[in-house]
Amino acid sequence: MLTFAAGPSKVYESVPKYLQDAYSEGILSANHRSDQFMRLYQEAESLMKEKLHMPDDYKLLFTSSATENWEIISQSIVESASFHIYSGSFGAKWIKFAQHINPKSAGQKIAANEEIDVPELSIPEDYDLIAITQNETSNASQVPMAKLEEIRDKFPEKLIAVDTTSSMAGIELKFELADFWYASVQKCFGLPAGLGLLILSPSAIEKAESKGESGRYNSLSFMLENARGYQTHYTPNVLGIYLLNRVLKDMPEIQHFDQALRERMKKLEDCIIGTKSLRLLVDNATTRSTTVLGVAGLEETIKKVKSAALDQGFQLGSGYGPLKPTSFRIANFPAITDQEMDGLMDFLVAY
Ligand SMILES: *Cc1c(COP(=O)(O)O)cnc(C)c1O
Repeated sequence: MLTFAAGPSKVYESVPKYLQDAYSEGILSANHRSDQFMRLYQEAESLMKEKLHMPDDYKLLFTSSATENWEIISQSIVESASFHIYSGSFGAKWIKFAQHINPKSAGQKIAANEEIDVPELSIPEDYDLIAITQNETSNASQVPMAKLEEIRDKFPEKLIAVDTTSSMAGIELKFELADFWYASVQKCFGLPAGLGLLILSPSAIEKAESKGESGRYNSLSFMLENARGYQTHYTPNVLGIYLLNRVLKDMPEIQHFDQALRERMKKLEDCIIGTKSLRLLVDNATTRSTTVLGVAGLEETIKKVKSAALDQGFQLGSGYGPLKPTSFRIANFPAITDQEMDGLMDFLVAY
């Protein structure tokens, strides 16, 4: 069975070998205060710079998941409240966690087809952080880097946090445009779940230190204190970090993935547009995701396509939340080969 689910998603075919290597190299029992682990952490950080173009003065932290990162940002960074701009279920979950910690946090919900109207955007002064779900996996929409740049230019005094859980390691991110970037590895990184990444700008680090929130196991100040010596605040997913390094080493620089995924997504979109009974979930090409395609249709069509796909050995990603009965999703992640995507398009073209 080949999965096109948008997470957990297909892992790179090299993963079984790397799992075996991890065992042979003694990684599975490595102590997280050992030189071996510290080198692994340091290497992960430099690979993120080399392959994903994370800036030199940004810091990589390891967490358990993207969900944990929502909470860390609210507890350790936000002073008064965060302001969320979101269109789908993941953005909605983020604001809910944020409000639990900082009840004044608020947001603006937009449609998946709608572009953020930055000139019209007004965010009161006491909202000190802007939260954006760059790639909204649930409805297959995205916020382009150009839009983030507009937001950055208009609100230079606010910190910006960006959820790139299903786009980091797939598209090229302009890290200078925000202070917090996070992901988990079971999406574009093509790895098994269980590891979250949190990337901080120098201003983000400064804010964590000036707020000084401490005492929780995942207080940012505590995490940063450990990270300075390339250690972690708890025994981390060492295997996950090892696999991350192996996969990053294999990767070309991110602009090549970015280009390839954009071209492949265009073909996939054209395939859906050419079908009789299926259509794109997001009409606006500017807000349509590069890494996840949403396909919409009548409930009975969607059901039929999903079940016929299974017979062919293709698992399509179900629609998310309220979109479940009338849509499915296709991950356009780097671990999926062009040949596999061609196979899927050959199947879909008949509908
Ligand atoms: C998958 C996903 C999450 C949640 O990731 P976890 O690793 O399960 O915490 C959050 N945000 C977005 C946009 C996602 O796609």
